[in-house]
Amino acid sequence: MLYRDAALADGSGPSLRKGVSVLVDRGRILWIRPTSDEGDLPSDVHVVDAGGSTIVPGMVDAHSHVTLPGGSHWIDRGFDSPEELLEVAEHNGDLLGRAGVRWARDVGSPAAVDPRDGRKRALALRVRERWREDRSRPRLRVAGTWIAHSGVLPAGLTIEADDGPGFLAAAAKQLDDGADLLKLYLDGPKKEEAPWSTEAVRAVVDLAHGRGAKVTAHSGLLPGARVGIDAGVDSLEHGFELDSDLAAQMARQGAFLVSTLAIFRSWASFAHTTTLPRFVGDEGKERTARRRERAIESVRVAHHAGVRIATGTDFGGGSLRANHLAWEVESLVEAGLKPWEALASATIRGGELLGESEAGRIGEGGPADFFLVHGDPLTDPTALWRVWRVAWLPEAPGRAEPTRR
Ligand SMILES: [Zn+2]
Repeated sequence: MLYRDAALADGSGPSLRKGVSVLVDRGRILWIRPTSDEGDLPSDVHVVDAGGSTIVPGMVDAHSHVTLPGGSHWIDRGFDSPEELLEVAEHNGDLLGRAGVRWARDVGSPAAVDPRDGRKRALALRVRERWREDRSRPRLRVAGTWIAHSGVLPAGLTIEADDGPGFLAAAAKQLDDGADLLKLYLDGPKKEEAPWSTEAVRAVVDLAHGRGAKVTAHSGLLPGARVGIDAGVDSLEHGFELDSDLAAQMARQGAFLVSTLAIFRSWASFAHTTTLPRFVGDEGKERTARRRERAIESVRVAHHAGVRIATGTDFGGGSLRANHLAWEVESLVEAGLKPWEALASATIRGGELLGESEAGRIGEGGPADFFLVHGDPLTDPTALWRVWRVAWLPEAPGRAEPTRR
């Protein structure tokens, strides 16, 4: 398959390459050449006239919840039956792919009994195993079930751990179940205090690192963020209340921030489209606007400090849907990143966060994990909404590229 005369935007710099041809064979990129100098082509090549479109590396949604649907009732949906949630995951898999998202990092799913062996574990682990078999499905990394202090999130959704030994045991259980990373909920029942001590979090971080897993932490409030970074977590999710001292420390330690600013855009939209008082009422609207300003400031501070920023929708665990990552890229531009830097967050930085060298990148010999949009995402993030084609998804029946397993 030859994609001919496209532009190419890869997030490694601010300038668009034009007049580019890309030859793909069985899911790999054989070469990338100027369209004016393609050289000899295979006799059975299928040419796609990509004129007017831009090739972009498949994106990384670094904060997702694949078993949950999102929407204004997102929390309620966490209590739907496991069968329903597994169906939701398949729908989300479709949405992700069509939106140009190649990798999803699942940072929390409800636990349910696995009928295959009767063990209770995070549902997203089953989704990861299903999708591993199918090249057209998103590539998934899974954090297991959220680990939280009691009294913070609705009972039954998370694994609750209130003291050091219980916390460590909860972490070990997730790793035993096959989690790729751990997700700690570092907001506590008291706003001004982290839920666990720095020593307790450090013990969990050491356990996970010793077993080759990373640790990330939900951070809506500053006290928890401080404890997490002091304890050496690999990343903070949301980071809605960072300050410059903490951002400097994150940059020194190489900790990532996974931004999820579009949550507030979503809630603002619900003021118009729902009847829920928390979104429609004046008090709710003001609270959303205040938190949004603070969160944007937080990302701005982190970016200035040199913190590596990856990009997440929080779909499912928040109100966005699985095909909304472009909204977060737009939000990062609002927070002061240049459009090409924001694209890098949704691609290269996401791959770095996952520790996957091919994720979010495009190059000869690498996977043909790219999609084509209209417009230049290096200068205009809204181009990412205008998806025309996705190279890793099967074409219409009869034209399908052979699928490599
Ligand atoms: Zn989340």
